Amino acid sequence: MTQTLIIGAGVTGAALAYQLSRRGDAVTIVSTHAIGGLASAASFGWLNASYFLSHPHYHLRHEGLAAHRRLQAQLPGLPTTWQGCLWYEATGDAQEETASDLTALGYPVQRLTRAQIADKIPALGPVPETALFFPDEGQSDPATLARALITASGAKVIRATVQAVTHTNGRATGVVTDLGPIGADQVILATGTATPALLQPFGYNLPMLKRPGLMIATNALPPICPVILATPDQEVRQDAEGHLHAPASAGHQSDSAEALGSFPVVVNATLQRLRALFPGHEIHFAHQAMAMRPVPGDGLPVVGQGPIPGLWVAVMHSGATLAPVVAELLADEITGGPESPLLADFRPARFQ
Ligand SMILES: Cc1cc2nc3c(=O)[nH]c(=O)nc-3n(C[C@H](O)[C@H](O)[C@H](O)COP(=O)(O)OP(=O)(O)OC[C@H]3O[C@@H](n4cnc5c(N)ncnc54)[C@H](O)[C@@H]3O)c2cc1C
Repeated sequence: MTQTLIIGAGVTGAALAYQLSRRGDAVTIVSTHAIGGLASAASFGWLNASYFLSHPHYHLRHEGLAAHRRLQAQLPGLPTTWQGCLWYEATGDAQEETASDLTALGYPVQRLTRAQIADKIPALGPVPETALFFPDEGQSDPATLARALITASGAKVIRATVQAVTHTNGRATGVVTDLGPIGADQVILATGTATPALLQPFGYNLPMLKRPGLMIATNALPPICPVILATPDQEVRQDAEGHLHAPASAGHQSDSAEALGSFPVVVNATLQRLRALFPGHEIHFAHQAMAMRPVPGDGLPVVGQGPIPGLWVAVMHSGATLAPVVAELLADEITGGPESPLLADFRPARFQ
């Protein structure tokens, strides 16, 4: 039986553990942080293919939505829901251009009038003239999903920090951790922003963008936001307990700020925007989560064999959307299957 070590217990490591266990590997996860990861525990968790940087990126994200549905069919009770997204981050001609581009790709898009928007979100204060509705989009808290996938995988989990990947005759043989060495036939880095430090000893420099992200959660409210809502200055979703979850930056997927503003200022500004969206509701701060988003230098996922055989890499932003499909495809490759054309544009070799 192949002994596989996955470094990282976020949604990427968890999805890989699930897929590799299904294919017969004996999987051990090593993670500094508790199951649920780091960025995964501070994510908005919007599952979408309406945001993309290239057509290959769109196709991977689109298949990501299908992979989430496959997981749900296999594992009833996952925290994934498909309420759709009401989107007007762009208005006027730019909104219509987005609708046309996505429709040309075959993505389901509905053009909504003011009355239809008000009907969909009765609690919405300022109702725009037009918006797009993406019915195939949904949400899933990646940390909760990660915990469910790791449980389903049966993987052993060790809380330890990997200091280096070990190798003999040019092939990965395991890792050295603060608790001692662990041997393996395959090592997979699902280590998010920490990945460059583990690749650097091999002379491989993985560029990462500095992208801090802050999520704010409110008190529990009555059901006021039945869809994922993406407005020009605020994205928001509501969970099953009634809490609103809101990134502190508008259009967070393409946000390029390298620093967050002062915490109270940013939190208050986000709360003000939420109160303006849903007037008449007592909206208060409940808690926050902050993490660096794992964004490779060109914004695209980095997936595949690393600098030596037996060492694999899976690091990406939009991991809430992408982890299930990346795990399916990479697990096939790691267990001897063919390379997927869906991953062709996202190989680690592009940075060497
Ligand atoms: C604010 C914010 C909003 C986001 N919104 C969305 C969204 O709406 N939609 C979407 O698709 N994506 C979104 N993302 C991105 C998505 O959440 C991430 O891409 C995804 O969670 C990354 O998961 P991961 O498992 O790769 O990394 P992480 O969750 O960061 O996990 C990394 C793991 O590696 C472990 N680790 C690192 N180094 C070591 C080491 N040396 N030894 C042992 N363990 C180590 C850590 O302990 C952790 O367990 C968002 C991210 C943030 C921060």
